[in-house]
Amino acid sequence: MNGCDVAVIGAGPAGSTAARTAARSGLHTILFEKQTLPRPKPCGGGLSLAAVNELDFDLPEDLIERCCTAILVTEGACTNRIETGRENARMVDRARFDHYLALKAVEAGAELREGEALHSLEPGDRHIKLETTAGRWTARIVIGADGCTSRVAAGVRPKWRPDERRFCLVADVPCAPQEIDRLIGDTVVLHYGYVRHGYAWIFPKHECLSFGIGGLLDNAAVTISRFRDFLALWGMDRGSRLRGCHIPITRFRTPVCADRIMLAGDAAGYVDSFSGEGIRYAIASGRMAAERTAAALEAGNCSASFLDGYRRAFEAAYRRDLRVSNLFTDVAFAWPNLIMGTLVRSDQVVRRYCHVVRGELAFRDFALWSAACYPGLLLRRALRSLVPTRL
Ligand SMILES: Cc1cc2nc3c(=O)[nH]c(=O)nc-3n(C[C@H](O)[C@H](O)[C@H](O)COP(=O)(O)OP(=O)(O)OC[C@H]3O[C@@H](n4cnc5c(N)ncnc54)[C@H](O)[C@@H]3O)c2cc1C
Repeated sequence: MNGCDVAVIGAGPAGSTAARTAARSGLHTILFEKQTLPRPKPCGGGLSLAAVNELDFDLPEDLIERCCTAILVTEGACTNRIETGRENARMVDRARFDHYLALKAVEAGAELREGEALHSLEPGDRHIKLETTAGRWTARIVIGADGCTSRVAAGVRPKWRPDERRFCLVADVPCAPQEIDRLIGDTVVLHYGYVRHGYAWIFPKHECLSFGIGGLLDNAAVTISRFRDFLALWGMDRGSRLRGCHIPITRFRTPVCADRIMLAGDAAGYVDSFSGEGIRYAIASGRMAAERTAAALEAGNCSASFLDGYRRAFEAAYRRDLRVSNLFTDVAFAWPNLIMGTLVRSDQVVRRYCHVVRGELAFRDFALWSAACYPGLLLRRALRSLVPTRL
């Protein structure tokens, strides 16, 4: 049985960042990935500037498919496009982006074992025994970064409840760059009110448009049919393959640490409920879990209560925003026309949201400011509907 200091399960953004951080601090690190890289990942591939800022290296130019400087938001009959004149998000192909992050982990000294899936874990006093598709291992600490359907999580928390997951669909529709420029160019498109408790999006890539939709889990059939309508609306029902998957939405109710185990990224549920953004939190939590790993091994204390310092550090940085986002989502998506239909009409609101995407404004400040503006915006909307040309 081979041993290591830390076994990281899953080479998504959380796992590769964790492995890179652990290896850089001198720990013998093995990164297990069940698929062979580069592997497909159903995702919009939208990296907010806030997510880009979580990386401690520059992304190579050839990984960036588009830099988006504009946003187009729609609710019902209202459409508002704002050109910010500044980069808000970068678009990447997740297969290539994730592969690059895994190679960065290898460059830092981690051993990458591709095509090797974790089967089971057996925690012990001095280490954890792991059984994979290729053999048996021991690790002093395991970081579970194995996504929404995490196997490692079985040793830490109960399965997600239905209200802790969303159902998403994506379709990458091949498109010539000139056609993309004509349709949306460097614009991120967000359609609210299309599905209950969610939205539909279009992210422009180099040679494809990435369409997606996310909504409630119990509404999957409706989400599929609304997604087909959405593709048809944009004239993109070209028979592209639809890929479905789940996305977790944390409500900070479940533990993320057990003795010798930590969960990071989607496995921990660290996704923003309003936007569905998860890459930023995967990178941040992967890094923080690895930092706590190094501290635990140095202190010789791998207990759940010591490792829980990782959760506390993550929550100190992100909990308030993610909780406000939960609340904002519950209210705004419960009455999409009344709330989102009013907010998207305001240039100022949309511009401020871009500040959040760039990481320049906390979501809680955006939400508070929007709530304060809302009565005035609603009144203005009502008056506008009475006297359309004057206001
Ligand atoms: C449709 C959709 C669109 C999205 N769009 C965006 C977006 O545009 N921007 C954004 O920021 N977020 C987006 N997200 C969220 C984002 O994709 C996730 O939050 C992010 O991928 C989480 O990273 P992760 O490393 O935790 O998990 P993942 O990226 O899911 O990686 C987990 C890895 O673990 C591996 N694995 C699983 N089980 C095992 C096992 N037993 N043994 C070994 N390896 C295993 C998997 O193969 C996988 O490579 C989207 C999500 C969905 C579903």
